[in-house]
Amino acid sequence: MFFERAVGQEGARPAGLPAMRIAVIGAGPSGLATAIALMRRFHRPFEAWLIDAEDAPGAFADGAAGRARTTEPARDLSVVPDRPEDFCNWLKAGLLAGGAVAALRGAQDLHVPRSLFRDYVMARFGEALSLRRDVRIRTFRGAVRHVGSCAQGLRIGFRDGDCADFDHVVVATGFGIAQREAASWRAARAAAERLSQEEAPPPLTLVGDGPRLAAILLDLRAGGYAGDIHVAAAAGRLPPSHGRGEGAGGMTLGAPPATRSLKDAFRYIRRACRAADAQGGDWQGVVDAASARLAAVWRHLPQAERNRYRRHLLGVHRHFSIRIAGDIQRRLAGAFEAGRTRFVSSRGPGASGENIVDCREMPSARALAGLVGRDAAALSVDDCGRLISHEEVLCGLSVVGAAASSLRPGPFTFAETVRQAYRAVLDIQTQGLARVSQR
Ligand SMILES: Cc1cc2nc3c(=O)[nH]c(=O)nc-3n(C[C@H](O)[C@H](O)[C@H](O)COP(=O)(O)OP(=O)(O)OC[C@H]3O[C@@H](n4cnc5c(N)ncnc54)[C@H](O)[C@@H]3O)c2cc1C
Repeated sequence: MFFERAVGQEGARPAGLPAMRIAVIGAGPSGLATAIALMRRFHRPFEAWLIDAEDAPGAFADGAAGRARTTEPARDLSVVPDRPEDFCNWLKAGLLAGGAVAALRGAQDLHVPRSLFRDYVMARFGEALSLRRDVRIRTFRGAVRHVGSCAQGLRIGFRDGDCADFDHVVVATGFGIAQREAASWRAARAAAERLSQEEAPPPLTLVGDGPRLAAILLDLRAGGYAGDIHVAAAAGRLPPSHGRGEGAGGMTLGAPPATRSLKDAFRYIRRACRAADAQGGDWQGVVDAASARLAAVWRHLPQAERNRYRRHLLGVHRHFSIRIAGDIQRRLAGAFEAGRTRFVSSRGPGASGENIVDCREMPSARALAGLVGRDAAALSVDDCGRLISHEEVLCGLSVVGAAASSLRPGPFTFAETVRQAYRAVLDIQTQGLARVSQR
């Protein structure tokens, strides 16, 4: 059923310590960050399965997707939280040393091709593994249909009927199987190729308003596709670009109130934003400061209020929190100005159809709830990525990265994802081990 590759062999195991079995579902950036965090911070022998429906670890940066540039600058892409400059230093040491690029611009401002970011993450993965002789990592191809409890801990059920048991499961399924990035790239290329053969082709419609939409649109035009492209963007606008003031130190707002209503939270955030504005902050600094405040206020919000945020605000919050490089945005604007590319209503076409390509990146709470067999309206995720249903922690289950952001405000940046992965590992280290030793 699977392709399997053991990348680390069990070494000498301290007497009396059984290897903990951990599954990480999803081998995108969040799954890889979690695996690295486990190897660096989980100080017990363990066997981890890195499971993905289709992609091998790091495949998110294969082909054209790897030539597209990261939305975040290098300074924000460290996979080692205690070394925020780690990616910049890796770039400088390996690629820029003494070169023209280093002379022109600091590495920290570069938006590099994603394949380079992938190589960095894989390098850190390999280094972490080489230091752990008591760890075994396996990569598996398999679509997970269900995660539920069993006598041994948690059981993962695969689509083909197989199952496997684990002590802990980390869900890093990102945008879910229905919105896999590789599928968007494939569908866009195939549609463009097919339409290019037609004499009077209908427009090609791309649905989405984020970095994926931007990268695919620019790739199609760079590849010479000259037909009409309609962009059905829910936000009705291009993804925002990074402002000049960013990275110059965060803006701070006052202490958050212990409010239990989303309306009060927003009233407070609006007031605080006005104050931040008066201090001379740009809109991005204000959005980021408001996001940090919302994360703090979030702990006191009742589930009904959290669900209201998810239904009405999550989409727009994501849109303004995820920003692309300034020159990529200028190229996008240029594509619109050149004609043959225009916005259409996002209510019109739906996301499927022969000439419609779904480029959305909206993590789905319903997909996550389906995976763990719970009611989406009762689910939430705490700061450590612990999954909570009806106010009760679901033991042995963590959710990290984009999948977690379907249920809470963030993580929207890679640094937040990495922090969440490390906190999840700390939680496994304390709670998970206690549970396993009780069995
Ligand atoms: C051009 C571009 C630039 C980007 N730049 C950045 C950036 O600078 N910083 C950043 O943080 N993000 C960036 N992103 C987004 C980034 O690539 C990731 O998609 C995003 O961070 C989410 O990562 P993830 O690992 O949580 O999820 P994903 O990347 O969506 O990975 C999830 C994985 O889980 C697998 N999966 C899903 N469901 C199942 C299941 N049921 N069973 C088994 N496997 C399953 C999928 O096959 C997939 O491989 C960029 C995206 C684009 C398109």
